[in-house]
Amino acid sequence: MTRIAFIGLGNMGGGMAASQARAQHQVKAFDLSHEAVARAVAAGCHAADSVAEAVADAEVVITMLPAGPHVRSVYGEQILAHAPKTALLLDCSTIDVESARAVARQAGEAGFRFADAPVSGGIMAAEAGTLAFMVGCDAADFPAVEAALAPMSRVTIHAGDHGAGQAAKICNNMLLGVSMIGTCEAFALAEKLGLAADRFFEVASKSSGQCWSVSTYCPVPGVGPATPADRQYEGGFATAMMLKDLKLAQDAAAKAGASTPMGAQAEALYALFDANGFGGKDFSAVIQMLRGRLAD
Ligand code: NAD
Repeated sequence: MTRIAFIGLGNMGGGMAASQARAQHQVKAFDLSHEAVARAVAAGCHAADSVAEAVADAEVVITMLPAGPHVRSVYGEQILAHAPKTALLLDCSTIDVESARAVARQAGEAGFRFADAPVSGGIMAAEAGTLAFMVGCDAADFPAVEAALAPMSRVTIHAGDHGAGQAAKICNNMLLGVSMIGTCEAFALAEKLGLAADRFFEVASKSSGQCWSVSTYCPVPGVGPATPADRQYEGGFATAMMLKDLKLAQDAAAKAGASTPMGAQAEALYALFDANGFGGKDFSAVIQMLRGRLAD
């Protein structure tokens, strides 16, 4: 049994904390939302009234927070001041590479081991304990990081030094945003050309157009495996979340001097879709905009 402090019990963190409790670890859970803490307690965690209380005797601290500023402030002002120096610190939020490196530097200077360990997989994978983790940390710390993440993970990959986990996450999601828009355009054109969606799926999923957005997450209802398209694009990976990750990728590209014109286009299209009021819909719903059928 490991003593775990879990901070941030939202859509993702709630399921992740529950996975740790299911694995018989002692989880002290804290969130600014009382409802989120109550859900974690119902799933076998112990409530903490503050970050300081949650981390006070922790062997592992896990954070799952919205964005970089939250992570900087929770580590800078609370975790580093109150956790034992022996605690392994794991930030699983998706944040900008600079914030991840800044927090790692601060944690290292204070004598802590720290890893950025963002995840791929949505709420259902968080609940099932089948997330994919991409980790940025000292190589010597990776075995301990992998073991601590095991109850929540299907696979854990060491991406490199501090910040490499976040870099892998935003590059992966930029590729996903671009491939989803390409997939949507192709299905929309097929429709205009009188080609049945299920026939095009059969071809594309077995030809050189094959990709995850076609084969596993097809944006057309009733075609291929069950996806959010089959439930009016509810649940899944929200457009607002995809937009956040595409913005992180564009910010990183600008700072690194990388040319990412397709990523920029994907960001612009998802920003437009979000501005039309569809931020809460699954990101594959962007096909409705490309078909000119936003009202459907
Ligand atoms: P969420 O908004 O549902 O949860 C975030 C939680 O953090 C909230 O419950 C909020 O109250 C809490 N919080 C904020 N500030 C806090 C503080 N100072 N102290 C304690 N708690 C605080 O978000 P989510 O969907 O769980 O996503 C969390 C992270 O995971 C994000 O970085 C997101 O990009 C990433 N992510 C999400 C998904 C997804 O499908 N939802 C998939 C992969 C990665």
